[in-house]
Amino acid sequence: GEAKELPKIHRLDESVVNRIAAGEVIQRPVSAVKELVENSLDASSTSISVVVKDGGLKLIQVSDDGHGIRHEDLPILCERHTTSKLSKYEDLQSIKSMGFRGEALASMTYVGHVTVTTITKGQLHGYRVSYRDGMMEHEPKACAAVKGTQIMVENLFYNMIARRKTLQNSADDYTKIVDLLSRFAIHYIDVSFSCRKHGAARADVHSVATSSRLDAIRSVYGLSVARNLIKIEASDNDPSSSVFEMDGFISNSNYVVKKTTMVLFINDRLVECTALKRALEIVYSATLPKASKPFIYMSIILPPEHVDVNVHPTKREVSLLNQEVIIEKIQSVVESMLRNSNESRTFQEQT
Ligand code: ADP
Ligand code: MG
Repeated sequence: GEAKELPKIHRLDESVVNRIAAGEVIQRPVSAVKELVENSLDASSTSISVVVKDGGLKLIQVSDDGHGIRHEDLPILCERHTTSKLSKYEDLQSIKSMGFRGEALASMTYVGHVTVTTITKGQLHGYRVSYRDGMMEHEPKACAAVKGTQIMVENLFYNMIARRKTLQNSADDYTKIVDLLSRFAIHYIDVSFSCRKHGAARADVHSVATSSRLDAIRSVYGLSVARNLIKIEASDNDPSSSVFEMDGFISNSNYVVKKTTMVLFINDRLVECTALKRALEIVYSATLPKASKPFIYMSIILPPEHVDVNVHPTKREVSLLNQEVIIEKIQSVVESMLRNSNESRTFQEQT
């Protein structure tokens, strides 16, 4: 009869639910690298190195010298929603760490094979353990370790045929991974970063801890960028309109390229803000005679309660309170700095 054709609602298996959710958090190899590096930064590391094989599909390995993971936490480390960073919802308002949801490591175990090696302070040896689908595959094994944590993700998307195929056909994620590490390296200048392909002698990103942002930019993005930068600063402290502090470096009129590089950190999180990027591109095309796109490094500090960090599964786009006012203020600072530098250059050329 008719009732037979009616769709029947049933509950999905937990493993199906978890794999679907994982595919959203870890969209591509570079998303896994971002989560792992953020964990290393959250663990107060001073040195972070990344090794990648086959664009991250065969292997992603992130090693740090951070505080490590306690032996007794290893059994639940890769379960969904296990974290050392957040306890109650209200903490989200003031959270300083980049992670908070306890979903990244779990997600990786649902779409790849994860092996963790870690040692905490004062221990004589470390532990190594592998995970699948949120669970330890065996008891942690004692092993030699120096300091910190190494996390290895192998065969990413081995169980998501379509995803794997698309990624294999598309341009390699390695370029994106190098780009990501470059961004982290010029913000976290007291941390040294390296990124290399598995088996390669040379690192493609190699930064050493420094106290100068400009030195960091020079070593990561090269001399041609670094010698054409203007330092910028802006701030506002009017609770009725906007409260923020911004500092950064922007390219001057001698710097001519076709594509914008915008490295943006808000409250020390690497994020995207399309509206701000567009606004600044407009300033550049209106102010500079040559139609150049800018290089911009910008760090914005806002009261934590003005940022909603939880709007996107990958935490990429954030939404800000008073976004329009902030963008307008930054836009006008950039415009006047750019105008000044352009005029002094024109002046130099005439004399
Ligand atoms: P979140 O970062 O949101 O807490 P993750 O799944 O990324 O969730 O990590 C889970 C937990 O594992 C973290 O809260 C942290 O305690 C621990 N952890 C992960 N990576 C590291 C690391 N590199 N060093 C020390 N602890 C780590
Ligand atoms: Mg995390």
